[in-house]
Amino acid sequence: MTTRTALISGASIAGPVLAYWLSEAGWDVTVVERAERLRTSGYPVDVRGTAVDVIRRMGLYDEVAEQRYRHVLVQLLAPSGRRLCTLDYGNLLSSSGSEDVELTRGVLSEILYGATKNRADYVFDDAITTLHDADDGVRVTFEHRRPETFDVVVGADGIHSNVRTLVFGDESRYLHHLGPYAAVWDLPTDMFEPGTGFFYSHPGRTVLVERPSDGAPARAFLTFVHPEPGTVDLRDPGAVLDALHRAFADDRWRTGDVIDTLPGADDVYFDTVSQVRMDEWHSGRVALVGDAAYAPAFLSGQGTSIAIAGAYVLASELVANDRPEQAFAAYQLRLRGYVKNNQDLALRTDGTVLARTSRQLLRRNLKLRAVPLLQRFQLVSLLQAKLRTAANDLTLSDRDLRTAAHHRGHGATR
Ligand SMILES: Cc1cc2nc3c(=O)[nH]c(=O)nc-3n(C[C@H](O)[C@H](O)[C@H](O)COP(=O)(O)OP(=O)(O)OC[C@H]3O[C@@H](n4cnc5c(N)ncnc54)[C@H](O)[C@@H]3O)c2cc1C
Repeated sequence: MTTRTALISGASIAGPVLAYWLSEAGWDVTVVERAERLRTSGYPVDVRGTAVDVIRRMGLYDEVAEQRYRHVLVQLLAPSGRRLCTLDYGNLLSSSGSEDVELTRGVLSEILYGATKNRADYVFDDAITTLHDADDGVRVTFEHRRPETFDVVVGADGIHSNVRTLVFGDESRYLHHLGPYAAVWDLPTDMFEPGTGFFYSHPGRTVLVERPSDGAPARAFLTFVHPEPGTVDLRDPGAVLDALHRAFADDRWRTGDVIDTLPGADDVYFDTVSQVRMDEWHSGRVALVGDAAYAPAFLSGQGTSIAIAGAYVLASELVANDRPEQAFAAYQLRLRGYVKNNQDLALRTDGTVLARTSRQLLRRNLKLRAVPLLQRFQLVSLLQAKLRTAANDLTLSDRDLRTAAHHRGHGATR
């Protein structure tokens, strides 16, 4: 039997998970990533519910859990800059009692890349330029590499997916801006003491700064509602800086100083908080996975888990079905409900991080001030009931892929 080949665009979360499972099943996998090296920035993200099962099946759970993010105590500040209370933010976000793990996006990406770099061919600093879907394969040209033909091509290249644009058309048809922008970057080490954290909000904008106790740099997370989302040129650093300064111009805390560090920062993340909605996630021998197909939006906290679960189901269906079209249709059918539930959850506008109105901010602050009490009575999980239901709303099948080691251990074959 000839070896089947796959090209994956994007080496963040969905791309490496898909590369892992396809290479595990004997496929020849190439991953092309536009950045010059693996991108390591980002705030902590959550591996929840079904995604935890996938990480377990990859044999990576212990490694992931070991890298669990340790939040510091965070001062909740009023718009005046006055301290309202001290939050054990980590305990609020992590669902105590469950096996969910919160870790930084960069660390998770490094673990997934580490597990696949010797079995998939990673090509950095390159991108697909054209795709031609023919009967016997997809002919692909690249910015730098020679043209090549693959059995399937998968876009795991995020909310501004290149593969999606090439195959399905302009992103304006699929991207739904929810209003805010989000920015994440590391700060110079002389700005905040290790072990300090601040959470400073106004209606429609929030600054969160946390510096881990181990001395790692403080990380800034800024989010704000923009009157015309989608109008800031993401490739123009000057426009990004200007948008941030404008949005936070009236802040009385240290926000201006934080924003001033942006031009010197490495690997800045700045993007709209947007949902991707598509009727079909595949066409011929090309499919999309993760944020490229169904981003639930940055502030939902579910993008990473959906990407992990989606990549695993996609790999399982590709290996189980000879025809890519059949595999893609099965993948879409299995994932649709789970994705919808998680996307619906993300449409709520009264989030903890970003309160849009004064009323919401007041309510949010009251809720946060009640957290120590809820923690004392172990009731924090009540705040997350809906999220937990959505995160677990996908059942993996016994027919889905298992590692060769698992098969040896269980004497089973596939
Ligand atoms: C640098 C960065 C920081 C992030 N920080 C956070 C965070 O703090 N909190 C949070 O909730 N989510 C964050 N996200 C988003 C989060 O990673 C995703 O929502 C989720 O994990 C789904 O991942 P994904 O693999 O589908 O897409 P993404 O994580 O968006 O990854 C897409 C990948 O494709 C690459 N790419 C883009 N265009 C091309 C192209 N033309 N050719 C080849 N490769 C391309 C990108 O460089 C990136 O590596 C961040 C994403 C990135 C890239």
